[in-house]
Amino acid sequence: MSPKSAVQLPSLFTIATLGSHSALQILKGAKDEGFHTLAVVTPLNERLYSSFAFVDEVIVIPQYGDFPKLEKELNKRKVILVPHGSFVAYLSMEEHKKMTTPYFGNKAVLDWEADRLRQREWLTRAGLKMPRQFTKASEIDRPVIVKLYGAQGGKGYLFVKNPEDFTARASHLVEQRYIMQEYVLGVPVYIHYFYSPLTGKLEIMSMDRRYESNVDSLGRIPLADQEGWDISPSYVVIGNQPISLRESLLAEAFNMGEAVVRVSREICGERGLFGAFCLESIVTPESEFFLMEISARIVAGTNLFIDGSPYSYLNYDEPMSTGRRIARELRNALLSNSLDLVLDQSGRKTFERSAAPNGESVAVPGPGVPAN
Ligand code: AMP
Ligand code: AMP
Repeated sequence: MSPKSAVQLPSLFTIATLGSHSALQILKGAKDEGFHTLAVVTPLNERLYSSFAFVDEVIVIPQYGDFPKLEKELNKRKVILVPHGSFVAYLSMEEHKKMTTPYFGNKAVLDWEADRLRQREWLTRAGLKMPRQFTKASEIDRPVIVKLYGAQGGKGYLFVKNPEDFTARASHLVEQRYIMQEYVLGVPVYIHYFYSPLTGKLEIMSMDRRYESNVDSLGRIPLADQEGWDISPSYVVIGNQPISLRESLLAEAFNMGEAVVRVSREICGERGLFGAFCLESIVTPESEFFLMEISARIVAGTNLFIDGSPYSYLNYDEPMSTGRRIARELRNALLSNSLDLVLDQSGRKTFERSAAPNGESVAVPGPGVPAN
């Protein structure tokens, strides 16, 4: 392959995503790696997304739930979808899985991620600690957090002190699905990883701590003044703050990521989890990580690091956001004729074999080695 055609290859493909969540990061990264970019937006977002030079094209749909109706149109072109939180929030699991448009990631992971009990099995099998779970109110012997299934960004979560408190404040929830977890007191640390099926390497891209309302504001009112004021903590995510981890905790953070990838290959098919994912933990004063959740795709906390993070800088001498890392992987896959390794394979349509000129492949660079 001549150097010129290799450089131009990504421009024949379009990286597309829904205009929300981390779309700006994904599309900026895609542009930086030489791809054509497409944002699918609602009328409210059209002007915003069109205002950025790195967004080549915008398609407007009435609401995000209408996205699957675009499938035919997208499949006529060389479009690759990069999913983010809005795909899970606004599309049903069935719709999400049924779409045949080439998709970065492995949809088989969705079944394990969407079910909190299966998530628990996955994470504990990987040797990670999780907060104790309670099934009946009468079993509650310590403060717990009641978490609704399908809650968006912590909405509706309740802090409950004891069984009586549960009866008073949470018994109306019996109609809904929820879990009760031991309340772990510590720092919420969200670690953003990228696992490359091309290089077989895991990278820590960045990390954040969430800023949640009102729980993160309670410390602003002296305890004495809180007395007699019926304040209930809530956990609605409002934004994210960067954090760097004590370096002595970094090895464990890295090992946790590797263990989760290893177990994913045992539970959701040979290919397992790849691409971007996030382990959502609480770190206690004893420096123990308790895992709350896993997100099997790019998370919004990575938006802090569109220009790269201190951790991504260790691997790349250039700004490397998670969004750009995804595009770099797709680019490396294209250049090495191994696009199949990074796209979901459940009933998707395939690109023509002629995707890589001459069918030649090039060596895939690892972290720190530029793609061209
Ligand atoms: P949105 O498009 O903003 O409605 O977000 C889609 C999904 O991602 C929702 O479930 C949000 O709760 C979640 N989300 C959006 N922004 C953040 C953030 N900064 N931190 C954590 N979750 C988020
Ligand atoms: P999640 O939806 O599981 O990511 O949780 C959202 C937020 O709820 C977290 O960022 C924490 O602030 C809080 N939270 C969830 N689980 C626990 C727990 N077991 N102990 C303490 N806080 C929790």
